[in-house]
Amino acid sequence: MVSKNMEDLVSLCKRRGFIFQSNEIYGGLQGVYDYGPLGVELKNNLKQAWWKSMIYERNDVEGLDASILTGREVLKHSGHEDTFSDPLVDCKKCKGRFRADHLINDKCPQCGSDDLTEPRPFNLMFKTAVGPIDDGSNYAYLRPETAQQIFTNFKNILDSTNKSIPFGIAQIGKAFRNEVTPGKFIFRVREFEQMELEFFVEPGKDEDWHEFWVNERVDWWIAQGIDKKNIKKLYVDKEDLSHYSKATVDLMYEFPHGSEELEGIANRTDFDLGSHTKNQSEFSINAEVMENKQSTTKLGVQNLETKKWFIPYVIEPSAGVDRGVLAILNEAYKEESTGNDNSRIVLGLKPHLSPIKAAVIPLKRNNEELVIKATEIQKHLQSLGLGRVILENSGNIGKGYRRHDEIGTPICITVDFESLENQTYTLRDRDTMDQKRLDLKGLIEAYRNLFN
Ligand code: ATP
Repeated sequence: MVSKNMEDLVSLCKRRGFIFQSNEIYGGLQGVYDYGPLGVELKNNLKQAWWKSMIYERNDVEGLDASILTGREVLKHSGHEDTFSDPLVDCKKCKGRFRADHLINDKCPQCGSDDLTEPRPFNLMFKTAVGPIDDGSNYAYLRPETAQQIFTNFKNILDSTNKSIPFGIAQIGKAFRNEVTPGKFIFRVREFEQMELEFFVEPGKDEDWHEFWVNERVDWWIAQGIDKKNIKKLYVDKEDLSHYSKATVDLMYEFPHGSEELEGIANRTDFDLGSHTKNQSEFSINAEVMENKQSTTKLGVQNLETKKWFIPYVIEPSAGVDRGVLAILNEAYKEESTGNDNSRIVLGLKPHLSPIKAAVIPLKRNNEELVIKATEIQKHLQSLGLGRVILENSGNIGKGYRRHDEIGTPICITVDFESLENQTYTLRDRDTMDQKRLDLKGLIEAYRNLFN
């Protein structure tokens, strides 16, 4: 069952320490969130799964961690300075401000009035002063997407690795957009993280690669625990395509507030490298690009058979980490009856994503022998390097199980007095709630098997 209630997720996230409103003690900063002890683990696990699938499991993708501060030239030639804006309307009656493309029947979504201003462009990029003098002329941007710095590093990476076309550059990192209407929890925020791959291909092979990446990305989300039926491919209509795109497929997920974009996979043609290259006229660039007199570097590559130089096409799967976290929490959240009018909340996370992989619980809180034994087991499992294992020294087994069900810990291990005598321990499974007694070897095997 998929949660249909955002409130449940928000409440669980706060109660258990996944996600907090940022600046909460001062009333909160709108559209910004902080990831708490469990949230940071979940988010890191998701990013790691992406990195592994992109970099470690392929031989044609390299990683990058480029700067967030981005110079004006980059975002001028990418088109962001001119076009990265949402047309806005103001409601003259209730003073609300909305995206023109979000209106239904040209009415104010807040009060229903049709007394609205004409749409006006609103640039979504955050500017910040660079250097000691803040006179309005020395500024850079906080990047609105991670992609542009991949394009500016294209030649560096090509020259410093043994890659040739087709190959990709992958990056995970923060992006900033001054969204007009942030909301829906972490769905639309002003500071977020993206996982982006820019995959460079020869023109003519772009359509096949686009299809390839759409399918890869759907499969990856399914492997993260998203039910196939909750994710749909939306082929964006020609008239709705971004200026750089030849074709875009949005992966639409059934969020609690409706079906919305989780990831976009675009065929960006030769627009990006064509926009940022020096000597544009030497190449036959298909996309419509702004004249570039500032770039110092040619971004073409040579076809080794025909010896012709060309600007590679780009296929871009671009996913939001925060939207991913929301989708995964939504999929995993379940309220289950446990009989006798009792129920439990359980997060059925895939073990590789669980913030805590195992909790070791001594039967009695302050019993020294039990605590020493439990700590020994915890340290042992921790040393296997598969993620965070904790000692849950609360002295209440029932409460411990409930807490770990709610945060998605796949197994709990209880150390009791029998354990001290015969070195066996109770392993309790989150999903089935089954319990079995195992010795240390059996425990380690069961623990390792979680990740196979
Ligand atoms: P939307 O139409 O929902 O505003 P977009 O089409 O502008 O999204 P892209 O520019 O394609 O988004 O960005 C790629 C991905 O980055 C999106 O699929 C989404 O997962 C994520 N993303 C974009 N904007 C935000 C945001 N404000 N908050 C959280 N994630 C975002």
